[in-house]
Amino acid sequence: MAQRQEDLRTLESSTLYRRYLDALRRHGDPRDEAPSPGHVIRRCNHCGMKAMFRLDLEGTWHECLHCGHLA
Ligand SMILES: [Zn+2]
Repeated sequence: MAQRQEDLRTLESSTLYRRYLDALRRHGDPRDEAPSPGHVIRRCNHCGMKAMFRLDLEGTWHECLHCGHLA
């Protein structure tokens, strides 16, 4: 009986832990740079900078916001 309660408690705390991880994943780590939707951070082949790229309206090209190179 005592063993059964222990199992339930372990199950409950692991559920809480999983919920905590989900929340972290959903909201992200506040210390991370979070690009807005349609933006990615990657290294540009053209200018060599680790730059923010913006997805164009057609959604096919990423434009380097540092030099304007399309990738
Ligand atoms: Zn560039």
